[in-house]
This record gives sequence, structure tokens and C-alpha cells, in this order.
Amino acid sequence: MKILVINAGSSSLKYQLIDTADNKVLAKGLCERIGINDSKLTYKPAGKDGFELVKDMKDHTDAIKLVLDALVDKDHGVISDMSEIDAVGHRVVHGGEKFAKSVLLTDEVLETIESLNDLAPLHNPANLMGIRACRAIMPNTPMVGVFDTAFHQTMPAEAFIYALPYEAYTEHMVRRYGFHGTSHNYVSIRAIEMLGKPAEETKIITCHLGNGSSVAAIKGGKCIDTSMGLTPLEGLPMGTRTGDIDPAIVGYLMKKLGLDLKEMDAYMNKKSGMLGISGVSSDFRDLGAAAADGSKRAALALDVFAYRVKKYIGAYAAALDGVDAIVFTAGVGENDRGMRARILEGLDYLGVDVDFEYNASCPRGEEVVISKPESKVKVFVIPTDEELMIARDAERLAK
Ligand code: ADP
Repeated sequence: MKILVINAGSSSLKYQLIDTADNKVLAKGLCERIGINDSKLTYKPAGKDGFELVKDMKDHTDAIKLVLDALVDKDHGVISDMSEIDAVGHRVVHGGEKFAKSVLLTDEVLETIESLNDLAPLHNPANLMGIRACRAIMPNTPMVGVFDTAFHQTMPAEAFIYALPYEAYTEHMVRRYGFHGTSHNYVSIRAIEMLGKPAEETKIITCHLGNGSSVAAIKGGKCIDTSMGLTPLEGLPMGTRTGDIDPAIVGYLMKKLGLDLKEMDAYMNKKSGMLGISGVSSDFRDLGAAAADGSKRAALALDVFAYRVKKYIGAYAAALDGVDAIVFTAGVGENDRGMRARILEGLDYLGVDVDFEYNASCPRGEEVVISKPESKVKVFVIPTDEELMIARDAERLAK
């Protein structure tokens, strides 16, 4: 089946057309500056020349029309008619407790997603705009919603309840939800296949380390804990996000710095993390270069990151009662060999025996095993593929 995968943000829209017969990406690209002036479509078909088009897109409907025009274009297109698209899979950030699985998007489902807007005020309304625009243009094509939170819905209450008055949960939906679920799900499925054991017997720690980062503990193929919480701010320190901090810091700094809630939110989400510690950049490549040039704060940021990932691995090994495999994925996890080595140093007590030499030279962009053959715990690098995961769910539900 040919599945269009859409990831809509407030002013951007990423897309991929995937043929699930061979998992090939037929075309992909991005619309930027939607609703602003000089909107731009980038279109990259496989095996043909792509193009960029600067043309105003007043809303997501305009953006999707341009994407479809590109896909059926005489010279650059990859399909001859829109009807060749069998289904559309939409990434939806927050499914709250309402969605533990992907679903067909009906009017009722859209209303439910809307009722969760408070939980993801930046993301869900934008995702809904993308869905509504697609439905208007392709009324007869099945639409499927795939939620970042869904995979984590198997967490037990002891892992998802915060030690706040219980009414915060029952009346205000405050609990751990977790994010990056589509990625943790995808790489854990691959890791189970690579372990070659029945899924029920596996204990896996997946480390999605990118600009945003999270770790998940997966037992018998089901998530039992993850580091992100009510929002993606909790857990590991990230490019520009704090990760775990003492909650009392919030009030203390608001007073000291004279910040209101919105400013404090930006302080913790956009100015902190690797950028905040280093004062250099949120990008791990820049940090590595700056540290090599003698920046102590860049080196410290990298030390903090490695230490905190290691702490989560220890915590999740305890939560899982042992571990069979540790998986690294996303921009940093897949590419930053030095960071992987720092995180994995000193984990011998867990039965992790890393081939550090191979880790330092192994290929990028493919699945590799960086533990030694005799290592009790396997360490895998698995490139994530959230779009393929969304396409597979959309295919299954459309059928
Ligand atoms: P996002 O959360 O935006 O999807 P990604 O998963 O693409 O993020 O990860 C982006 C991060 O990956 C950036 O910090 C970038 O520096 C890092 N990264 C990408 N390639 C490399 C590399 N070769 N070495 C080190 N870090 C890398």
C-alpha cells in the first residue's frame, strides 16, 4: 500500500510517501512558514530531481494541496493520481489516557484529541490542523492517528503516578505519559528480533538521544517506565531542556529573576539543557568541537548528559530486574560514538561488555551490534524510523 505520513506542526508540515510493499520512501519533504509569508515547499522524490517552491501557503490546506500537486507532477511526481494513496498516517503528539493504540480518525476521535489540547497546547492543535486539512482534500481516504504517548500506556500506576495529591491525577490528568513512543516501539521491536528470543522473555532499555531525549524500560515488549513525563521536559537534560530538576527551583528562580510563568517555561524549555550549561550550543557536534577547543562548560555539558543517561540505565536495569539489551537511537544515539562510549563505560557490573574499538569505527545509518559476542547484555545501535512505524499502523488500520 502507498501511505502518506504527515507530521504537522503549527507552521510546518513534514511528509513522506511510503510504499509498504518494500518499505521504500517514494518521496519526502517539508512545508515551512505556513501562514507566514514566503512559505516554502521542499520536495525530494526517490531517484529523480526534486525541487523547492516558494509560494504563500495561508494554512495547512494550502500546504497539503501543494504536496499532493508535487506527488502527481508530470516531471517530478512519483504517482499518477491522488487516488493511489491508500491511507494517510498522522503523527499526533498527545493521546492522554484515551489512546493506547493508533486509531482511525473519525469525527468523534478528533473531538477527543481536541479535549486533550491542554496537555500539549503547542502540538495537538497543530496536528489537528494537518488532519482536518487532509480530510477536507481527501475525504474518501482513510486517515489514521499515531500517538507519541500510546506505546507508554502500558506503564503500571507505580511508574506513572506522581507523588502529588491524587486529585491532580483524577481531576487534572497530571501523570507520566512519556513521548517518543513511536521510536521506542520501533527500535524495541527490532531489538527483540535481533535478540532472537520470545518477546515475553526480553528486557530492553531504549535510549532515544537526539535534540529531545528519553529513555524507556521495556519488559516483554511492553513499556514499563520512561523518562519523559506529563510533558517532554522531564527526564534527561536535552538540547535546550532542563530534564529532571528540583521542582522548588521553579518558584525560587521566578522570584530571583522576576520571570512570569511563560518566561519561566521558555527558560526551562529553550534556554537550558546543553545550551544552558555550555553557553555554546544545543548541538552535540558543536559541543564536541568546543570541548576539544578547550571550552570547559561544553565539556561539562557533555559530562552531565553522559552521567544522567547512565543513571537512567542503572535505574531501569533495577526496574526491569536485569537487562538483555541496551539500544541507542536518534541523532546523538546513532551518530555520536564518543557519547555512546562515555555512557557505556563502567557498566561491566551489569554484564555489559562493549567492543569500544568497533564502536569508535562502526558504520553510521545501519543497525550494528557494539557489544562483544560474549557480552551478557547486547548493545545495539538501531536507526529509528518513526515514519515507517506510522505507515505500518496506517496500513493495518486502513485494511
Ligand atoms: P530531533 O529531536 O530534532 O529529531 P535528532 O534525533 O535529529 O533530533 O538529533 C539531533 C542531534 O543529533 C543534534 O544535537 C546533533 O548534534 C546530533 N548529531 C547528529 N549527527 C551527529 C554526529 N555525527 N555526531 C554527534 N552528534 C550528532
